[in-house]
Amino acid sequence: MAKKQFKAESKRLLEMMINSIYTQREIFLRELISNASDAIDKIYYRALTDKNLTFDKDSYFVKITADKGSRILTLSDTGIGMTKEELENNLGVIAKSGSLAFKKENEAQEGHNIIGQFGVGFYSAFMVADQITVVSRALGSDEAYKWESTGAEGYTIDTAEKAEVGTDIYLTIKPNTEDDNYDEFLDEYRLKAIVKKYSDFIRYPIKMMVSTSRPKEGTENEFESVQEEQTVNSMVPIWRKNKSELTPESYEQFYAEKHYGFDKPLKHLHVSADGAVVYQAILFIPEKTPFDYYTQEYEKGLELYSNGVLIMNKCASLLPDYFSFVKGMVDSENLSLNISREMLQHDRQLNLIAKNIKNKIKGALLSMLKDERENYETFYKAFGRQLKFGVYSEYGSHKDDLQDLLMFNSSKEKALVTLDEYVSRMPEEQKYIYYATGGSIERIDKLPQTELVTDKGYELLYFTDEIDEFAIRMLMSYKDKEFKNVSSGDLGIEADEKEKEAENADASSNNDLFEFMKSQLEGKVKSVKASKRLKSHPVCLTAEGELSIEMEKILRAMPNAGNVQADKVLEINVNHAVFQSLKDAFASDHEKVKLYTSLLYHQALLIEGLPIQDPVEFTNDICKVMV
Ligand code: ADP
Ligand code: MG
Repeated sequence: MAKKQFKAESKRLLEMMINSIYTQREIFLRELISNASDAIDKIYYRALTDKNLTFDKDSYFVKITADKGSRILTLSDTGIGMTKEELENNLGVIAKSGSLAFKKENEAQEGHNIIGQFGVGFYSAFMVADQITVVSRALGSDEAYKWESTGAEGYTIDTAEKAEVGTDIYLTIKPNTEDDNYDEFLDEYRLKAIVKKYSDFIRYPIKMMVSTSRPKEGTENEFESVQEEQTVNSMVPIWRKNKSELTPESYEQFYAEKHYGFDKPLKHLHVSADGAVVYQAILFIPEKTPFDYYTQEYEKGLELYSNGVLIMNKCASLLPDYFSFVKGMVDSENLSLNISREMLQHDRQLNLIAKNIKNKIKGALLSMLKDERENYETFYKAFGRQLKFGVYSEYGSHKDDLQDLLMFNSSKEKALVTLDEYVSRMPEEQKYIYYATGGSIERIDKLPQTELVTDKGYELLYFTDEIDEFAIRMLMSYKDKEFKNVSSGDLGIEADEKEKEAENADASSNNDLFEFMKSQLEGKVKSVKASKRLKSHPVCLTAEGELSIEMEKILRAMPNAGNVQADKVLEINVNHAVFQSLKDAFASDHEKVKLYTSLLYHQALLIEGLPIQDPVEFTNDICKVMV
């Protein structure tokens, strides 16, 4: 019989298809199973309008059999089958989809689930098979036909025998090569795993012969291996089930089965959206930070399904970076997919879903904060940093979404508080939201700069994470209250009358001394001033202007930081005994003032946790005082 030729373009297309469209060979099984499921669906739709046809769900299934000896993998379905013309048109013309045509003809029917639309999936089987034989008998026909091809060279069609309506596909699996193992596609466990991975939620049973062992009859300890037919897929996906049928354990089990994490999720969301976009999603907030979470290796993303068929393992565009910790899946019917189903177009549909999901997650976190405080704090300890990065990144464009989710440790509560909690208990006269930065709470508590604020009884937020101050600078204010670093210029706290008088008197009389000190610290500080915030400590460093000392430290630690510098101010406590010594020295012995200035400056550096440029000089200075 004469071989019919594929058209020239078809040949090229087929080669391209086989070699480049799909990144993983194993998906051929998904494609063939999807086709079988489509074929059964077509009978189902026919039955809706054809009175002579009844759809008895139990007689429809897909069956997979592997024979290692002959290297033949068989997929049989009891679907609608193909006539001779259909074999010719649908399998002989690449990129022609009978399923798409069917869908168009039956558009009026609600909720069809047919998956096929590009007319290329079938050929993916050539990635693993040397030869494909399709024997099919169409619904309503007594004749069966056999379509056979060994790839790009073409195909033959012949008459065949087949007792039942449906399609059998025989794949002759390629022999192993040095680089590639094809045997795995004849291994029942491997096949079962592939079915589970991609086709678990196909709505018809996918049956497989699986060997199991059972006790041998008449013996006690002997086992024999038997072949047993199993349904491999779970058919109804959990996200299509009614929420009332599901328990928290159902979701936990799903989380574990899917290997989303080794922990138990803190919260799950089951979304069934049918507004502007129709999709189902199950989303999880994990409890523990994955070990690689804050590294380059961590990949965010949700599983993406189209009509119950997995098309992408990690669809990154479904999650904003600041919610990258969320695990789960999305299933949507009306996604426009490109031919490989593995590279989704960044289409409108997907963007809408992503936006929708973002709002759901935000809502879930807020309700967790409100109603499950303890869980929220666990979550925040694991992933709060990511939220703060989110506030800071992209020039603060997400801050409105995130500010209510932030928490910081507070001097009042000795626990995490939200900005809302802070602001709502601010005394009326308090102008700013105060914070202090440092490596730890203990360290910040000892900072001299905090004295005025805590003496006033104002609440202080501890910024112990490097990102904290950067994020807050992006935020600038919360509910019209600006943030204020306790080490920054003006704290907006009024001194009482007596203090003011003393200050004014001091200010002018000490000007010469401060100018002298400043000249000794040329290039190190911008000015030397009488402090308004110090109570018991003699000295501290603060910063005027935009950059805080903590930010300078962090920026300097970065590669290619250059010479960023905060505008530092050396503040002197004029009520401290040390200041009297300074004044006395200024009257009699300028060398001594130089020595004291250097000592005070170095003390201030130490308190700030800044490096001392010349430690030897510093220790020599101390010795000079002692001698
Ligand atoms: P698609 O599924 O995207 O349409 P395929 O290359 O996977 O493309 O399949 C091409 C066409 O072949 C299908 O549209 C369908 O008409 C037909 N077909 C493939 N497999 C089967 C099957 N098992 N039963 C009936 N028809 C099938
Ligand atoms: Mg297909």
